[in-house]
Amino acid sequence: MEESRRNFMIQCATRVTLSAGGVALLSSADISAAGLQRYHVVRKNENLTVIARRYGVTVNNLKLWNGLASDVIMPGQKLHLRVQHSSLPLATINRPKINTAKWKNIIAHHSATYNGNAKIFDAAHRRRGMENGLAYHFVICNGTNGSADGKIEVGSRWLRQIKGGHVKSAVYNNNSIGICLVGNFEKKWVSKNQQASLISLVDYLKNTMLKGRAKFLVHRELKNEQTICPGKNFPAKTLHKLFG
Ligand SMILES: [Zn+2]
Repeated sequence: MEESRRNFMIQCATRVTLSAGGVALLSSADISAAGLQRYHVVRKNENLTVIARRYGVTVNNLKLWNGLASDVIMPGQKLHLRVQHSSLPLATINRPKINTAKWKNIIAHHSATYNGNAKIFDAAHRRRGMENGLAYHFVICNGTNGSADGKIEVGSRWLRQIKGGHVKSAVYNNNSIGICLVGNFEKKWVSKNQQASLISLVDYLKNTMLKGRAKFLVHRELKNEQTICPGKNFPAKTLHKLFG
């Protein structure tokens, strides 16, 4: 008796707190409408917590999708409510017939060099005896060698839907999409544009193309690879928060 009364009180208190914070409980119709909405225009006195709760997303997600470095937002500001795919070269990514059963993992790497692009790494990998050239499926550039910061370059292994050469393990090479970010993230930081492109690409591959089935990993998380790739400054935690 005492306990059920206490539970009731707690429930009531939660409701009171929610409405005191100006957050109305959403009906199922509201929730599905929110799911379809792509952006929100900030109103006076709204903060990220209120907006995140309203659309069933997290504050962290809102910050990532909108490139916000702090919690400060202004009335009239347009906030994206999902990952933006505008940086993706979709026509190229969608060109091959995707072997959806083959890809079980998406593995992120750094190039461990300060510059480069798909063409330069392709030549380097061929010189090292890789007959299929560029070992990765995708390269995300950092503004060096004439490839724009955040540009996503699609490798021929993706276009041919063939295995990568980006890890030691034959099993993982066979079933994992390799994405390389140009840079040495032991020493430097992933640029804002590179991070936005990476989130966009992983989201598209994992959630749209592979229906959520692929697992996101960074190279050093594989057993027996003995590597620090993609470097200590790579935002692995952030990516895992988004993609599991
Ligand atoms: Zn690696």
